[in-house]
Amino acid sequence: MQVQWFPGHMAKARREVEGNLKLVDFVIELLDARAPLSSENPMLHQIVQNKDKMVVLMKRDLADPNVTAAWLTYYKERNIPAVAVDASNRDDMKQVVQLAKQLGKKKIDQLVAKGMKARPHRAMILGIPNVGKSTLINRLANRKAAKTGDRPGITKQQLWIKIKKDFELLDTPGILWPKFEDQVVGYRLASIGTIKDQVISLQDIVVFVIKFLQRKYPDLLLERYGVEADLDDMVEIFERIGKKRGALESGGEVDFDKVSELVLRDLRSGRIGRISLEDPDDVSMEE
Ligand code: GDP
Repeated sequence: MQVQWFPGHMAKARREVEGNLKLVDFVIELLDARAPLSSENPMLHQIVQNKDKMVVLMKRDLADPNVTAAWLTYYKERNIPAVAVDASNRDDMKQVVQLAKQLGKKKIDQLVAKGMKARPHRAMILGIPNVGKSTLINRLANRKAAKTGDRPGITKQQLWIKIKKDFELLDTPGILWPKFEDQVVGYRLASIGTIKDQVISLQDIVVFVIKFLQRKYPDLLLERYGVEADLDDMVEIFERIGKKRGALESGGEVDFDKVSELVLRDLRSGRIGRISLEDPDDVSMEE
């Protein structure tokens, strides 16, 4: 995802979403199961206003199942319909459709009560780049590749994808910008690969990741890299990982950039384990 978000892009993205909102009964907000709050668009409430909303936590296959369960409780307590999915799991896709049908039915029932004719429920998908919008659209539509518009401002022909007899999805997802202000949010998004690596230096991200793993997932860290939770010396930690995993320069010295790339690759692919970077308890402490 190579988009730089300048104010002009943000304004344009917002206008596009606002235009499409008029066409739908409700919105499907995609968040990353590993960091649901960090992966929100900061202005979604203002943009969506009083439209109904459901949340899909994407990439649950990479997230800590216990933490994902806690997030689903969190949304339930706030009366926000939510489901966690792995896009490659068919049953998960059925759950998305089920929840969307429930939400859409409510809206159509209201129309019918006012004497209007029933019609299919219509929804659009919204989310920040890389959260899984095109993947979800493809899976729901049962097709290989979506026409994606990664850059705001690209106008494409609009299409309704018929998901079920009475449920249609807007072909084009709404692409919104991520949060920029908060540094910890930036580190979380960089760790899971949602924002460009160049924004924060790789080694910085990995220092953040290692400290986080030491605090929350010490066993996984020890198992994969032989690094204990109480080891403070970052140089020593990088060297240990580099030697254990063979991230070395030609002279045999540990290559710190290679170590960083390796740790991030491991984290993002789930090779360290199923890890969530944010849980509802952290949040209530921050609130
Ligand atoms: P978009 O920018 O929001 O449209 O995001 P994409 O649909 O292009 O997805 C970004 C990346 O996340 C791609 O590499 C997808 O394969 C991956 N992805 C999407 N959904 C899932 C999921 O549920 N699990 C995993 N492991 N990866 C996913």
